[in-house]
Amino acid sequence: MRCLVIADVHANLAAFQAVLRDAAPFEEIWCLGDLVGYGPDPNECIALLREWPHLAIAGNHDWAAVGKVDLEDFNPGARAAGEWTARQLKGENRRFLEGLALQQERGEFCLVHGSVRSPIWEYVDNTRVAAENLALQPTRYCLVGHTHTPVMYTESKGILSRTRTAHMRGERSAIVLDDRKAMLNPGSVGQPRDGDRRASYALLDPESGRVEVRRVEYPVADTQARMRSAGLPDRNALRLSLGR
Ligand code: ZN
Repeated sequence: MRCLVIADVHANLAAFQAVLRDAAPFEEIWCLGDLVGYGPDPNECIALLREWPHLAIAGNHDWAAVGKVDLEDFNPGARAAGEWTARQLKGENRRFLEGLALQQERGEFCLVHGSVRSPIWEYVDNTRVAAENLALQPTRYCLVGHTHTPVMYTESKGILSRTRTAHMRGERSAIVLDDRKAMLNPGSVGQPRDGDRRASYALLDPESGRVEVRRVEYPVADTQARMRSAGLPDRNALRLSLGR
């Protein structure tokens, strides 16, 4: 099976559409949370995900948009976007977000937004936090989002290694997961923060363990214009150009 793994779409429809086109053909989407928040098209992004067979979990922005976490815990830009998103959501899309679980498992894979230890909030952004969570994960492999930075950690006999996914890009650079524990972040579709503004995602074959991380250009200016006309914070629009 070919499975599209995405995280942190953040209501950026233009980026999501570009990823779907670039990733085709695939059979299923695994979404690692933060489908909404920041971007201008929350309803459209939820509807588009639901057109596909999918497995999805909740992120902090998804829960904030439906009042399951307090927006007071967010920075001012994220809070303003969260309040705007909450006002836009159609009933069925609100119910979809409300119904998302914090963690899902499929075979050897566990899906969470932040980390196994703290699914909504924890950022796995260094090797110490990665090692602690690899020890806790219920399956051999874990898929996470939240940091908006593509990366893979693997662990064997207490030795942890970090793989820059730049080395996993493209057909020829795909890697095959082996018997080591691994944690993969496919990067962010709708708001990359690793200095590369292109949408980031992964293609995974869960049976063979083959993983490929890809980047694709999308019309950033279109999303920025829609954010501005919706009155969303300008800082969040500007950072899309930078991938920061
Ligand atoms: Zn996010």
